[in-house]
Amino acid sequence: MREVTNMNEQEETRQEKKSKLAVVKKVAIAGGGIGGLATAIALRKQGIDAQIYERARELRPVGAGLSLLPNGLKALEGIEPGIVARLKQAGSQGEIINLQNKSGETILQNKSVLMEKYGMPMLNIRWSRLQEILASALPPDIIHLNHRCIGFEQDRDRVTVNFENGKTAEADFLVGADGINSAVRQILIGDGSPRYGGRMSWRAVIQYSHELLRANEVILMTAVEGKNIALIDVGGGYIFWSAGALSADDSSSGNAAAVKSRVSQEFAGWASPVPEIIEATDAEAIVERPIWDRPPVSSWSQGRVTLLGDAAHPMAPSLGQGASTAFEDARILALCIGSASSLESAIASYETARIERTKIIQARSAFVGLRSYDPDSEKYFEEDFSGVAERAKVGNEEFEEWLYRYECDAIGQTLAS
Ligand SMILES: Cc1cc2nc3c(=O)[nH]c(=O)nc-3n(C[C@H](O)[C@H](O)[C@H](O)COP(=O)(O)OP(=O)(O)OC[C@H]3O[C@@H](n4cnc5c(N)ncnc54)[C@H](O)[C@@H]3O)c2cc1C
Repeated sequence: MREVTNMNEQEETRQEKKSKLAVVKKVAIAGGGIGGLATAIALRKQGIDAQIYERARELRPVGAGLSLLPNGLKALEGIEPGIVARLKQAGSQGEIINLQNKSGETILQNKSVLMEKYGMPMLNIRWSRLQEILASALPPDIIHLNHRCIGFEQDRDRVTVNFENGKTAEADFLVGADGINSAVRQILIGDGSPRYGGRMSWRAVIQYSHELLRANEVILMTAVEGKNIALIDVGGGYIFWSAGALSADDSSSGNAAAVKSRVSQEFAGWASPVPEIIEATDAEAIVERPIWDRPPVSSWSQGRVTLLGDAAHPMAPSLGQGASTAFEDARILALCIGSASSLESAIASYETARIERTKIIQARSAFVGLRSYDPDSEKYFEEDFSGVAERAKVGNEEFEEWLYRYECDAIGQTLAS
């Protein structure tokens, strides 16, 4: 016991020393999603007093389940050593990927080589478990619920964040991790609503067993009319299903029963177990969401404020990189702040490390999924992603090498030197 206390004391002393050197002492993070939580852990490891301000009244999962990929898991392990082992226990690993048509015929079966090649698997997990595990690495009193950020003011020394509940918070630095409809982004960039990508998505997690659904496997079924559904083991007897279909407009179906009826109709006649799993899902558990993104921008920051995760680089979910890139952002931002001699240089290094990379991932995500049905897609693509379009279109193997071999810590060291 005394040994543990000594280790904690040593860690506290290390963090205090780091804090004395850091270019900021107190950071406000708007948004307690996956990106905000990871950023708070990463900054606190640098001895910085990071506080999260979340609009929700309770920390509730915003999605059903998700896949984390080697680049994101490596970033997260750098932030909180040992966390990947906990996530593995709580989730499942995508070892076999079965690609099927809507009649259930196998087009391709792939054994994942991610672990052998990159040292990290595809880890599939319930959103709520990921959120709990991240939150458990933080002191609970630093997460301020019912704090919707509505604006901020900054001067040379401070940033004051304003909340809808009438309260304010003062900090040296503000990170907007408030998602695709970020309030912080609207003040910094002012680019209005996100752009609808022509697809509607439905997602749910359900405790479910079926002879066709096996542990550590992913079934991905697609149809030529642009529909697809993924059935993913996320551990503990839970299956995460995530479906998508082309839709002329982004209006929601209304109530939960109408949402369930719509997705049931979209996938009527598909092979087992698709109709059965939709039927077995509680209507209230189905999340319906249009697929949106935004064109990339060349700066995410102004003075003492920057963006991170979906607030900075929202992307179509076709590569499953949203959370993984948010973890990369969190790791790199904390390394930049921990090693820079001024806040300006920390932000400049963060942007240098992150903007071009995420632009390429946004481009690839759009290229693979978002507008592939649209006759004007090539034109949008070249306009939005000028300068990186060719890099986003390389072959799968080359792209995966570039994507998964990213080492935040090596990049952080280069930035610091
Ligand atoms: C259909 C679909 C499937 C997906 N599948 C995957 C996947 O398999 N793998 C993957 O990595 N990613 C996936 N994503 C993307 C992933 O959801 C996001 O990229 C990820 O959640 C981004 O994290 P974030 O913290 O930046 O934003 P969010 O998770 O959106 O969190 C933002 C937080 O900010 C809060 N907030 C919002 N506004 C304010 C405000 N004004 N003040 C205070 N708080 C505020 C919100 O309540 C929320 O808690 C998918 C997305 C979709 C739509």
